[in-house]
Amino acid sequence: MRTVSEHQRVVADLIAARTAATVGLTEAEGLVLADDVAAPLSLPVFDNSAMDGYALRAEDVTGADKNPVKLPVAEDIPAGRTDALTLAPGTAHRIMTGAPLPAGATAVVPVEATDARTDTVEIRSAPKAGQHIRRAGEDVTAGTTVLRAGQVVTPAALGLAAALGLGSLTVRPRQRVLVMSTGTELVSAGTDLKPGQIYESNAIMLAAAVREAGGEVVATPTSSDDVAQFSAVLEGYAGQADLIITSGGVSAGAYEVVKDAFDGGDGRRPSGSSGGVEFVKVAMQPGMPQGAGLINGCPIITLPGNPVSALVSFEVFVRPALRAAMGLPHPHRPRRTAVLADDLTSPPGKRQFRRGVYDAAAGTVTTYGPPASHHLRWLASANCLLEIAEDVTEMAAGEQVQLWDLS
Ligand code: AMP
Ligand code: MG
Repeated sequence: MRTVSEHQRVVADLIAARTAATVGLTEAEGLVLADDVAAPLSLPVFDNSAMDGYALRAEDVTGADKNPVKLPVAEDIPAGRTDALTLAPGTAHRIMTGAPLPAGATAVVPVEATDARTDTVEIRSAPKAGQHIRRAGEDVTAGTTVLRAGQVVTPAALGLAAALGLGSLTVRPRQRVLVMSTGTELVSAGTDLKPGQIYESNAIMLAAAVREAGGEVVATPTSSDDVAQFSAVLEGYAGQADLIITSGGVSAGAYEVVKDAFDGGDGRRPSGSSGGVEFVKVAMQPGMPQGAGLINGCPIITLPGNPVSALVSFEVFVRPALRAAMGLPHPHRPRRTAVLADDLTSPPGKRQFRRGVYDAAAGTVTTYGPPASHHLRWLASANCLLEIAEDVTEMAAGEQVQLWDLS
């Protein structure tokens, strides 16, 4: 049996970073910059007012805090006025926040320190030279590196790029992931179930997990357990994905469509396929049957079909590799140590991942639901995975346990 760590390495080695691409700002959101960004212009772009008030020459209103001074209002400058203005000595211009400062003005007096008139204004404070003026370039000087390769494009980074007039950024693109379900028993919601049928649930779950990890979902098709149909569905998406994730069809029974398609179990393979998929048992619970490989150069990770196994396997193997390939921070879920609130048992020689409810304030964790891999209900309301080492078979309440924080 392969260890969890070994299979993590195999999966991580398969999922490769895409080449950097220059994309529009909206598309860059949440991705990692592949290049440094230099400012093409300075910010502020021009000297402008930090207040709604009056632009004037400070020396024209010395002592106005004690003896108010009246000045004629020569111009009105709302934000967006584009003509170049000059302030004559002994006059004021009414000016709004963000409006260009007229040449010759040395201070802005806020409207609150005036009588707010528009013909002649009474100034009731004595500003220092430079007061309430935002100087060109005091935030960013043109040519400065303002964002670094490896940084995540956050809302603030997008705001800065837009303020600099940039329409695009060079990023590591999202991994495009095809999420495929297998099983003749699966039907879509909205269809009545015949005896023996169940609703398909892995595709929407794994697709959500892909997006949560930062990836993009190409499609979520389902195939029956017929190898020819499986291969046809896969071929329909050839060249569209950077990663294929399948669920189901990899255990030890008959009709294991994914295994049969790639293992040559019945001699059929998707036409033109190259590379290969290795099917292994990984020493973990849940999620023992796993597969990984390359199909026509595209990495494929074949997860087991039981919903809990599928999602736990995604967490353990795929999510960290996917994030690492995109250069995203925190490829791993935060690890915490908590005090176990109940006893548990774990199979010898396997790393067990139990669903749990972690109480961060109390520093405790309670196992949530049985270890078996079809109990989706518990997983749906758990907020962590307990990680129990291969050599541990029993733990008692009060012991320290490691967990992965999913919250
Ligand atoms: P398999 O690995 O294909 O043998 O599937 C194991 C179990 O998971 C079976 O009970 C399947 O019906 C169930 N299963 C497999 N794929 C899905 C799916 N996409 N949605 C819901 N249940 C599934
Ligand atoms: Mg199946």
